[in-house]
Amino acid sequence: TLRWTGVKERTFIAVKPDGVQRKRVGEIVQRFEKKGFKLVGFKLLKASKDLLREHYWEHRNRPFYNRLVTYMSSGPVVAMVWQGQDVVKTGRDMMGKTNPIDSMPGTFRGDFCVEMGRNVIHGSDSVESAQREISLWFKESELCDREVCSNNWIYD
Ligand code: ADP
Ligand code: MG
Repeated sequence: TLRWTGVKERTFIAVKPDGVQRKRVGEIVQRFEKKGFKLVGFKLLKASKDLLREHYWEHRNRPFYNRLVTYMSSGPVVAMVWQGQDVVKTGRDMMGKTNPIDSMPGTFRGDFCVEMGRNVIHGSDSVESAQREISLWFKESELCDREVCSNNWIYD
């Protein structure tokens, strides 16, 4: 049984092709680890346009949709699942805003990029989107959540 509530919340984070090419994977992983979140899924892959069209389905009628899918399929991405209390909202806060110009220094987009069409990182915007995106990108068997972890040092 769980002693902590909310500790099982998960979010889907992806380092986009520009982030991989610009060597931001390590620092992004490091900041999520430092915060206290648990890595439960991780893979490097070149995503198909079909996968990306489905991933960004909510934007299918927006003018930038095709460019977005082309950008996201232009090189490998690092797809990750992070777990922990309020990880969806906190992950969004760590990312900054969609447009880097609106993103504070200290956020990934505030620190690593200058425009929306190359904004380095994706993060789920709600618990429901996270569940949808995780099941789209990962099989259940690819997620590791059974190891002993020292929650005593992270949650009260
Ligand atoms: P977020 O990634 O912050 O959740 P959205 O879900 O609104 O942002 O958009 C998905 C992605 O589409 C953004 O990260 C960005 O790469 C791209 N995008 C969004 N809006 C625009 C736009 N107006 N012009 C170009 N690209 C955009
Ligand atoms: Mg979004």
